[in-house]
Amino acid sequence: MDSDIRIVMVQTSHPGNIGAAARAMKNMCLSRLTLVDPRDFPCEEAMVRASGADDVLRDARVVPDLDSAVADCRVIIGASARLRSVPWPLLTPREAAALAQRAGGDDPVALVFGRESSGLSNEELDRCTHLVHIPTNPAYSSLNVAMAIQVVCYELMLVRDGDAPRGDVGNVPVRQATAAEMEGFFGHLAQALDDIGFTDERRSAKLLRRLRRLFHRATPDSEEVNILRGILSAAQGRKSMRR
Ligand code: SAH
Repeated sequence: MDSDIRIVMVQTSHPGNIGAAARAMKNMCLSRLTLVDPRDFPCEEAMVRASGADDVLRDARVVPDLDSAVADCRVIIGASARLRSVPWPLLTPREAAALAQRAGGDDPVALVFGRESSGLSNEELDRCTHLVHIPTNPAYSSLNVAMAIQVVCYELMLVRDGDAPRGDVGNVPVRQATAAEMEGFFGHLAQALDDIGFTDERRSAKLLRRLRRLFHRATPDSEEVNILRGILSAAQGRKSMRR
């Protein structure tokens, strides 16, 4: 089965970057591009910069938000130019490619790239199960978005062709929960913490972010998410809470 590795670009401002990304993808034998709320697309400039990869642009999926782009994915890897203080599982491009290749045989995998101006928001990073950072000059770490896509797609091609060592980044359970299931769980968790009086508004955002990291790191499968939600419902004093 052809692996479904999709490149997701979030709110790209410059259509030229979308074209350059399509070209980078096609060079590396990738074709699935998803555009989240692009500022200017379709656009002649994107076609010009795609330079023969117009098929990738024509087939690109345009969606209104990141949730729509990744809802069916179990592995979602966000590309970040900055190293964050909250410890997301952080991969090198080579490790990210190995993970995507292994997980992508059965399920869609998303590699998510941020805006030229401000990257990905914390809320968008919350959707990601892993982060990838391209090693750079620490004092000048932000690549042009299409160039970042090029580096990651190159690693994906190497690992697909078996030319690069496959980094061991832990087991991906076969039925790892989807992003939609994880979001259902996180919503339930926030409500339950509130119901049992564990959080107050002031500190809950930070706490929830840490809990998200914890549960993403655990890569629960769908059944385990249901068990956790059952426990939450019990703590809330409900017999069951299904959404
Ligand atoms: N000014 C933004 C960076 C935007 S660069 C910031 O400070 O966050 C646009 C996008 O390219 C980023 O969101 C990221 O997805 C990707 N990118 C750029 N440099 C990268 C790097 N060194 N490693 C991983 N991704 C990078």
